[in-house]
Amino acid sequence: MHIVELIDTYLAEHGDRERAADRTGAWTGRRLGERARRLAGGLQARGVRRGDRVAVMMANGVDVLVAYEAIWRAGAAITPLMPALVEDEVAHILGSAEPAAVLVSAGTADVVRAARATVGGTFPLAGDGGDVPWAELDAEPAPVVHDDGDLAAVLFTGGTTGRSKGVMLTHRNLTAAAAMAATADDARPDDVSLVTLPLSHGFGLIAFLVTYLRPLRLLIRPRFDPDDFAATAEAEGVTVADVVPAMLQALLDRGHVHSGALRSLRALYVGGAPCPPDLIDAVEDALPVRVIEGYGLTESGTLIAGDSPSRPHRRGSVGVPFEGVEVRIVDPDGRDLPPGRTGEIIVRSPAVMAGYWRDEAATAEAVRDGWLHTGDLGSLDDDGRLRIAGRRKELIIRGGFNIHPADLENAVRACPGVADVGVVGVPDRARGERVVAAVVGTCTAEDVHRHCRAKVAGPKRPDEVVIMERLPLTPVGKLDRNALAAALAHRHA
Ligand code: ATP
Repeated sequence: MHIVELIDTYLAEHGDRERAADRTGAWTGRRLGERARRLAGGLQARGVRRGDRVAVMMANGVDVLVAYEAIWRAGAAITPLMPALVEDEVAHILGSAEPAAVLVSAGTADVVRAARATVGGTFPLAGDGGDVPWAELDAEPAPVVHDDGDLAAVLFTGGTTGRSKGVMLTHRNLTAAAAMAATADDARPDDVSLVTLPLSHGFGLIAFLVTYLRPLRLLIRPRFDPDDFAATAEAEGVTVADVVPAMLQALLDRGHVHSGALRSLRALYVGGAPCPPDLIDAVEDALPVRVIEGYGLTESGTLIAGDSPSRPHRRGSVGVPFEGVEVRIVDPDGRDLPPGRTGEIIVRSPAVMAGYWRDEAATAEAVRDGWLHTGDLGSLDDDGRLRIAGRRKELIIRGGFNIHPADLENAVRACPGVADVGVVGVPDRARGERVVAAVVGTCTAEDVHRHCRAKVAGPKRPDEVVIMERLPLTPVGKLDRNALAAALAHRHA
């Protein structure tokens, strides 16, 4: 299916419902759709054609939904950029994607303009603070042929400049992913969903696409802030939200899980990074809420496996593969491993990417015979539930012994006084790598060592514990292991 078909079906059935609200007020689906239709015409008038990319670097808001719908109607692919990116990263993405236009908001126009100068681009900047104001992008659109195989999005993954790759997702990929998400998402028409994840990230994108299939009211905030999240949830009676684990942790740390502010929530969809089981328990014990975990990556169209409303969460697992997703666990030679054994997770599904943007070598390495090699390590239980052990590239190998950082992080987190922890390998001449646990909290390094001596097998204990004020996070709120490893290696240089 094409996303425009999805939108048109939604509009025919639910157009008069309130679709989304932000600081500009509430928008029905029809009003939003009509604005998007006229913006599509405005983009066409500025030269945007079917098959082009249009970049979007805008703060979260209803106008991002308008921008995406407009770009799809014009037959082009969205290339979202997170508002937090700096000029070098923006230049890398714009230089690679070669967009026909970039849509900006007031806070991002300057960085895009500077990046455009660096890459020598001639594309117009449209929107608040751009070369062409929104008001001038208003015209009757010309008809466009839509094909399900057309590119709908080129999503640049979190890697830093130079390594960030563009994941190409077609309309077929994204509508398949939305249909899968709908099976895990038990949203009801009277639900109110709080959107604080960036709409520019794959997780945020699918979380919004699924609402064409399961209509509810979207409350869009510019960014995640735990105090704002709690205040909005309480004031608006928010019932569902999509979060990454760091957001849950921040809500717990700020006392909002126990304050009663979140009592209207009935489901929290969590994913995007390993979620400590104790964190899920703490939230479910304190609130009448179901934490529904999901696993995936941008390259798989985000969704691979998840809990479902009808299947209870099992501690330590991320649920079962979604319908239409085949999952295998293989050894380094590509041979299938039996249940219970850990190997690389490989997947085949209608949502798996068409490839990396202009990078055939990387595509050939990632997708072999139709199977996406995720780079994640995991195992399947006898009953088909998937467990994630960690990322292959994050596996620490110390003196020939494999250490999964997520396992050790869960163990360290249970130490009194530990608020957060990140475990990384740092180069070591004698043993290849040394295991360093960076800890945030009120405890001492010796407290953590003592805890690990009692709770963790000898070869898996950290060599060193470093107390830090905060851990580096990516713009989506995931632990930035590269930055942490670099900071720790630098400390010893
Ligand atoms: P990059 O791939 O460049 O580092 P990124 O982290 O932003 O960027 P994503 O595609 O968003 O890329 O991240 C997907 C990864 O997140 C998965 O490969 C997996 O390692 C991890 N992940 C996602 N969901 C879960 C989960 N429920 N449990 C454990 N890990 C998860």
